[in-house]
Amino acid sequence: MTKQPLFFVVDDDSVTRLMLCRFLEQLGYATLGLNNGKEALAALDNGLPDIVLMDAKMPVMNGFETLAVMKSRPDTKNIPVLMITGLNDDASVDDAYGAGAADFIPKPIHWAILRNRVRYLLKDIEAERKINLASIVFDNTSEGIVVTNSEGIIQSVNPAFSIITGYFPEEVLGKSMNMVSSGRHNKAFYKKFWDSLMVSGRWQGEFWNRRKDGSVFPQWVTISAVNGADGKCTNYVGVFSDLSALKESEANLLYLSGHDTLTDLPNRHLFQERLALALTEAKECNGRVGVMLLDLDRFKVVNETLGHDKGDQLLVQVGKRLTKCLTQPATLGRMGGDEFGVILPRMKHSQDAARIAQEMLESLKKPFPIDGEEMEFFIGASIGIGLAPSDGEDVKTLLKSADAAMYHAKEQGRNNFQYYRDDLNTASMARMLMESSLRSALDKEEFVLYYQPQMDVATGKLVGAEALIRWQHSMQGLIAPGEFITLAEETGLIVPMGEWALRTACKQMKKWSKAGLPPIRVAVNLSGIQFKQPDFTDLVLKIIKETGIKHRWLELELTESIAMGDAEETFRKLNTLSEYDIPLAIDDFGTGFSSLSYLKRFPFGTLKIDRSFVRNCTTDAEDAALVRTIIGLANSLGLTVIAEGVEEQDHLEFLREHGCKEIQGYLYGRPMPAKDFATFIKNNPVMKDEN
Ligand code: C2E
Ligand code: CA
Ligand code: CA
Repeated sequence: MTKQPLFFVVDDDSVTRLMLCRFLEQLGYATLGLNNGKEALAALDNGLPDIVLMDAKMPVMNGFETLAVMKSRPDTKNIPVLMITGLNDDASVDDAYGAGAADFIPKPIHWAILRNRVRYLLKDIEAERKINLASIVFDNTSEGIVVTNSEGIIQSVNPAFSIITGYFPEEVLGKSMNMVSSGRHNKAFYKKFWDSLMVSGRWQGEFWNRRKDGSVFPQWVTISAVNGADGKCTNYVGVFSDLSALKESEANLLYLSGHDTLTDLPNRHLFQERLALALTEAKECNGRVGVMLLDLDRFKVVNETLGHDKGDQLLVQVGKRLTKCLTQPATLGRMGGDEFGVILPRMKHSQDAARIAQEMLESLKKPFPIDGEEMEFFIGASIGIGLAPSDGEDVKTLLKSADAAMYHAKEQGRNNFQYYRDDLNTASMARMLMESSLRSALDKEEFVLYYQPQMDVATGKLVGAEALIRWQHSMQGLIAPGEFITLAEETGLIVPMGEWALRTACKQMKKWSKAGLPPIRVAVNLSGIQFKQPDFTDLVLKIIKETGIKHRWLELELTESIAMGDAEETFRKLNTLSEYDIPLAIDDFGTGFSSLSYLKRFPFGTLKIDRSFVRNCTTDAEDAALVRTIIGLANSLGLTVIAEGVEEQDHLEFLREHGCKEIQGYLYGRPMPAKDFATFIKNNPVMKDEN
């Protein structure tokens, strides 16, 4: 007890009163002497005593009457009263107890007994105080409190428990704690929980429980075991605070982290959440939801060649353009990497998705400027569309359908959109199979190189060959590179595959030379990813050394994308190769961000005009002009021009007329296996090696 206990000493006998007061003061208590009951009741108004010592027999108002009044007042009814009665006055003792006295003490006073009775009373008071304090806390704290017995049967709950859970005490008392369990925690969780409780008598942590209305909510829980005198657990006291509010702010954080920091668009997590919401809504009103997945074509190559910084810039620009295409309520999210997603929550017509997809493709058609790059960049996209409920009623299925549709779009030649069709899952299965068999194709030596002749226009003589890879699949037969190069680039397999192609082409040259055939130049295609490898030049030089061919017989074909990215490094690598006398060709010229003025800084010796221009050069005036211009520019820069895809005599005439030096195409020969190409060399005049 913190403050000094106060005693009212009520006795009409002034000597007894004084002696009692002095005795109590000696024990360290405060006292107030009062003449009779009336005075005592009046004194209560100035402050309540902790204990009242009161003579039973007094004039004006006796002890029993006074006690009765005190018992009737709520503020005084719990104050213990020690009644002083005459010795052997059994009736008085009975009356005293009957009136609610805490105890009695006979006259003449036995001081030792008084001291003990007082001490007992004070101990009780203190214990009760503590209980009172506990019950005030119990009743008023904002934390929910549950007391259970050792079996987990609820014995007592506080008001906060009811507020938090929605259960009134009468609904839970006598019931097991299981009734509020959420079902969110597994066996392992409960095992840990009980282990901790058994060993340390305490457990603390986050716990999910269920409210009366069925909602599940998180709590921070402290559970303590209460042990009886025998050391066995008698009760558990659980104190829990509702974490919902806390969780709400956490949810805000999650919302922030629910956004992609680069593009500021919802990330995959948030996207899926919104999709789930849209699907639930749609179910209720029999509505439709559209989901589109958009994947940038060849972005990986861009990223690898340009560097991730530039790749990021491009993604930000793409995100902005796509956002502008959304006219109706929709969510655009970044699913990761170069994949974007769109949710069309309340779709009226399935064509709505097509319209938006078309707009998105259009919006990406304009070139993208990239900081620090002189050229503008072009990028396309493939879009897959899935519709709920027909293509899936839940998030997972619907996204899977959209994904399958997107791969279908890629297969359809990219830069287009496709709706999901039932047979597409089979197609995406096929793609997965392809990927896994591609991984083992190198080990199984399933790749082969075909060689296509390149002729000198002026003399009609054979000047070289382009090595083109094929996949001799055990089940599917010969597969063209168009079907697996992108996959190889996406999976990184292009690096070992490209190395294989380089080595195989060089070995082949050596074989032909050993067979006595005149040497010709062989061009090998390189992926930007291969070229980006730090040890790329070393690898090329090593392979040449290994196979013992002359550097000038191995030509490397690079696309314009290689010229972008880390210009410094590109420049260094190309120069090294060029210093070693290795010829370099720009492939597919005209399809990328063709800038001759830029490219001329690099040591290219040959420029290959893409087949798509050559094909129409005699029928389409624009293409004709383009081909003429390219040849003119290239010649003025001292580059040898090779036209690809020459199928007809007309093409040849046109190209010859405009100064194209070399041609490659079905007109002279299709790509063929090495053995056939050896025959081709034997049967055709070969341009003499002047060096
Ligand atoms: P590319 O470098 O443009 O190769 C020329 C493509 O045009 C070859 O297709 C060739 O067969 C085809 N072609 C040649 N003349 C004609 C013609 O007169 N008419 C028609 N319609 N087509 C003609 P292919 O062999 O299917 O190769 C496709 C692409 O695959 C190549 O295009 C090249 O980019 C890539 N590729 C091939 N081999 C490799 C390789 O070893 N490594 C890398 N990274 N890419 C390769
Ligand atoms: Ca090529
Ligand atoms: Ca080409």
